[in-house]
Amino acid sequence: MRVLVVGGGGREHALVWRLKQSPQVEALFCAPGNAGIAGDAECVAIAADDLDGLLGFAREHAIDLTVVGPELPLTLGIVDRFTDAGLRAFGPTRAGAQLEGSKAFTKALLDEEGIPTAAFGAFSTPDAAAAYIRTTGAPLVVKADGLASGKGVFICPTVAEALAAVDEIMRARRFGDAGARVVVEEFLDGEELSFMAVTDGTTVVPLAPAQDHKRVRDGDQGPNTGGMGAYSPAPVMTPALQAHVMRDILQPVVRGLSKRGIKYTGVLYAGLMVQGARAKVLEFNARFGDPETQVVVPRLRSDLVDLLVRTCDGRLADARVEWDERAAVCIVMAAEGYPDAVVKGKAIMGLESLRSWRDGAVFHAGTRLVDGRIVTDGGRVLGVTALGSTIGGAIAAAYGAVEKITWPGVHYRRDIGHRALARAAGGEHVGT
Ligand code: AMP
Repeated sequence: MRVLVVGGGGREHALVWRLKQSPQVEALFCAPGNAGIAGDAECVAIAADDLDGLLGFAREHAIDLTVVGPELPLTLGIVDRFTDAGLRAFGPTRAGAQLEGSKAFTKALLDEEGIPTAAFGAFSTPDAAAAYIRTTGAPLVVKADGLASGKGVFICPTVAEALAAVDEIMRARRFGDAGARVVVEEFLDGEELSFMAVTDGTTVVPLAPAQDHKRVRDGDQGPNTGGMGAYSPAPVMTPALQAHVMRDILQPVVRGLSKRGIKYTGVLYAGLMVQGARAKVLEFNARFGDPETQVVVPRLRSDLVDLLVRTCDGRLADARVEWDERAAVCIVMAAEGYPDAVVKGKAIMGLESLRSWRDGAVFHAGTRLVDGRIVTDGGRVLGVTALGSTIGGAIAAAYGAVEKITWPGVHYRRDIGHRALARAAGGEHVGT
């Protein structure tokens, strides 16, 4: 099988790394890829949102399966274009990708289908949003409707902060057109959990649960980022909670979309807030999470190609998915300045010492090859994933590897997995 992966971050490196191990894969391409991906696949210089370029490449190279990593090409309709051209592409159509591309669309769907989520209002004028905020009172969460790279969400302890967030999103248009509408919602307390599943539009198959760390600094302090690390399994996800999430959230979402004429295929990723035995939806993503993929994919024992092809072809009903019992932990190593403007072009040292590492992998996110040297080329630069028989063992192995790598200005969190460790110490159940 000839496979093309679209994207060039840590998530795509993890996918490429696993796909390369499949006996079914005879040729593997990545567009545009990065310096690390180049070691596992042939990188082609086509941007992830250049749909014409990608379609032309897939046709010319007789690609059998295209796996779309990032959300932007999905919301632009890459899967619709490929499907119309008779090509197999993994991911939802443009209509399905609204689940990620429009928070107002998603909240309305959840509301109509009675799926648990925070109480909310969706507004297309700042005055209407302000009136709702004043009536409801704080704390509140204010969100830009459209895609804002995970930065369009404001947690507002006071009414004044919520009003300021509305101004920033709708009047100053800090996120451009993504701020044409806002969603204002109830602040939910609890523990966050990411839960990914794949669906062919009918059958929903859960992937191993993972948790990520969004804040930039230790102790979950500082601004939100794309994700500073992740671990799987997620001890907060008990079998009972997973059954509840499948029955009351994921399956009704797929059915609800289907009722509206949208056959949703690909990854259905729910960002959840867990309160005791129940979960509420914070958001949906229409693709694999980053960095959750960097801990979920290394734990997948069964063939990734088989899973992706079955998803595209509507044959998930009899899929068999097997997981490594071991835990996986990923530490994101970031560039100076991240999550704000970053310094690029710093030479990365120490990568060679991990080339023959067997119980883990260094996934490249923002790297580039310049004159034979691998240099930093983004905010999140590397994701270092280790497997271990316990979560503590995986954490120690991941940090052991991280310490071998350095560049000027590098920073990373030192406490990835702390919640899982605390739960493990408390003897709570650890699920798949
Ligand atoms: P989202 O992109 O909607 O997942 O929001 C980004 C982050 O903001 C989430 O991962 C949560 O940490 C936080 N968040 C979003 N919505 C809420 C909410 N209703 N209550 C509390 N925290 C929230």
